[in-house]
Amino acid sequence: MRVPFADLGLRGKPIEPEIMGAVAEALASGTYIGGPEVEAFEREFATFCGAAEAVGVDSGTHALTFALLAAGVRPGDEVITTPFSFIATAEAISHAGATPVFVDVDPATGLIDVTRAAGAITPKTRAIVPVHLYGQPAEMDPLLALARERGIAVIEDACQAHGAEYRGRRVGSLGDIAAFSFYPSKNLGACGEGGAVTAGSPALARSVRLLRDHGQSKRYHHEIVGYNGRLDAIQAAILRVKLRSLDEWNSQRRKNALLYNQALSEIPGVFLPPHPLHVLPVYHLYVIQVENRDRLRERLAARGIETGLHYPVPIHLQPAYRSLGYRAGNFPAAERFASRCISLPLYPELMESQICYVADRLEAAL
Ligand SMILES: *Cc1c(COP(=O)(O)O)cnc(C)c1O
Repeated sequence: MRVPFADLGLRGKPIEPEIMGAVAEALASGTYIGGPEVEAFEREFATFCGAAEAVGVDSGTHALTFALLAAGVRPGDEVITTPFSFIATAEAISHAGATPVFVDVDPATGLIDVTRAAGAITPKTRAIVPVHLYGQPAEMDPLLALARERGIAVIEDACQAHGAEYRGRRVGSLGDIAAFSFYPSKNLGACGEGGAVTAGSPALARSVRLLRDHGQSKRYHHEIVGYNGRLDAIQAAILRVKLRSLDEWNSQRRKNALLYNQALSEIPGVFLPPHPLHVLPVYHLYVIQVENRDRLRERLAARGIETGLHYPVPIHLQPAYRSLGYRAGNFPAAERFASRCISLPLYPELMESQICYVADRLEAAL
């Protein structure tokens, strides 16, 4: 049996004809950047998240950058975040001109440790960026209470968590402003690049609209120095079709995660993703922790099972951030997670027989 890590192609999937039709219409329309498809998608995605507004942009990385800038992050500021994320979380902080300040994660979830975030606040701290890693919402209530008390903004990195819920509310509606990615492999993925910012306040959404379009509110009248960071109509048309199935796909992901939990729970030495009762995760990734992760990967690969590493090197140990002066040992929980994590194949279309096969091979390999 072969179990690929992801299954992104449309060919043969139930959604294929609808996507082809939507793309054909967008192609014929002559409006390729922004326009009615993008505006309709923005309304639908805001509703999906329970946010007042959504603004389509050209990537999750730009969504984060624009969210930070709209929230008032400026050169010289510090922004607290986790070292255990995709590099873009830190890159966006750097592109806004600020300094990422890392704090360690919870060893079971890999999510930012709120107590440590509190300890890292200085007079220069302008914002905190929690990452809803693997589709699990960060511990938002204490984080929001802390931020309110200290007068700093909370910017959600929701790039892996479209539709995840924290105490009955969806990510993207929890902090001041949030960033989403529609990179093809995300739970809601375009057929190309895309992203969105959601915001509770029209003023923040307006700032993002300016930033994504060269700072212009009216053609050739530029209020600020902005970016070329717009969403295109073909991607918006595809995203509108896919958004209608997202709840169903997310519940299929949860069902598959539950099957993995059941199949793996008895195997000694395997640490499963925790599932606290006050959150509804969307399992962008299904990540377990084991010793000798690299050996396990090789053995699974030999049996036709593809796995991933998210992420093998925490951001504070990346050469790109050497100048910040962090060293190995600074964030033991993140470093240990990075050395023990292995992502198993998980997507809506994954079959129960494949999950059983992965679990059997995994048990044999250990
Ligand atoms: C994917 C991702 C991003 C960046 O999104 P792009 O669309 O690839 O630019 C940022 N943060 C996290 C946590 C991500 O997973």
